[in-house]
Amino acid sequence: MEIISLSGFLSKYELNNMISDLDIDETNLSGITTLQEYIDDEQSVNKEGVFCAYSEKEIFEYEYILIEENEFLNELLHEVKCLLSALIKNCSSCDLEKIPYTQQYDDPFNLNTVYDLLSSHSVPQIFISRIGSLKCSCGNDVYQDDPYLEEGELDDWIGEEINFIIDTFGIDLDAAVEFIEFLKMNPMMALYHPIGILISDKIQSREIIGVDIIKKNSTFYRGRKRKFHERRVPFIKEELWNPEVGLPSQGRYNPPGVSNLYLANNIEVVKQEINLGINELVDIAEFHINKDLLVFNTTVTDIDIFANMQKQDDLSFNPEYIFTNFLAQCLAYHGYHGVIYESVKINQGMNVCLFNVEPIKDLDIHYIQESVGKSESESNYDRTSVF
Ligand SMILES: [Zn+2]
Repeated sequence: MEIISLSGFLSKYELNNMISDLDIDETNLSGITTLQEYIDDEQSVNKEGVFCAYSEKEIFEYEYILIEENEFLNELLHEVKCLLSALIKNCSSCDLEKIPYTQQYDDPFNLNTVYDLLSSHSVPQIFISRIGSLKCSCGNDVYQDDPYLEEGELDDWIGEEINFIIDTFGIDLDAAVEFIEFLKMNPMMALYHPIGILISDKIQSREIIGVDIIKKNSTFYRGRKRKFHERRVPFIKEELWNPEVGLPSQGRYNPPGVSNLYLANNIEVVKQEINLGINELVDIAEFHINKDLLVFNTTVTDIDIFANMQKQDDLSFNPEYIFTNFLAQCLAYHGYHGVIYESVKINQGMNVCLFNVEPIKDLDIHYIQESVGKSESESNYDRTSVF
């Protein structure tokens, strides 16, 4: 009868690297015994000159041999499955942020898959499918192509929005993640959530970093674009304020219908953000601030929560804006006049979204720069020929 040594078996199936990588003690598994014990049981075996059928090397009495190959292998693979499953902290059904975010906005190939996990621990190709699925800490089965996160990976990656909540309002990660998910499901119910209440209270008490003042006599700009063959006359003062209540679609700092006044700190920012097309011009109003305005300045919080948050035009409701909508509503309700945030288009550019301001009394338009075209470098038409 053929005798197979444990070492011969492990080399034949290239299992040694996996075993040492996962620190498995293979001699504790079933299906094996020492040659000595085997000989004691099976009197017929001649203990002199026993050779392994796989490695063809002589087997010594103290060495392990396989008596139940399948039993041994199943137990080994089960052990591997348990050890590797223990490394899977999150899968796409229990991770609320990183996996879906990376799949949607980033390179999904940056996510490790279960296959990557198995092969990085030297599980031989032929056994990968035999192991089948692993188990996430949530109890969900995860298969070869499924992305997963290891312990700590979620802590390294935290959505900007969530980072902002943690840093500014001193809320821990789990609570912040949970609040964002709650908001996505119940955008109008924020103040029924303890974190929503806490944020609102901190804003009210002014006990947060970022409370700032826009000084009286500061200057800001707002542009309105027009197609010059549809309207040749520049917009007048009254047309350069924010639209009427009910008209605006959802913006970064306004829920649908709420009309806030969005301004920029210089003309270049206005031109970049307004994204002029061919045959379009912009009329730019210069606003003069008539009194000190209490604002929340997100740029001093050190984290730009808005850099990745481009509005998707095809969506009437943008879940990326839910937290900032809530933030703006809290600020407005508690008497702030606005929020300052970085321009995503221009370095050093600032935007401000104002609310609770009374036209003419709190700020007014002092000057209108009419019919501004694209920046010189981009300009491909002569705007003096328009009129
Ligand atoms: Zn999971």
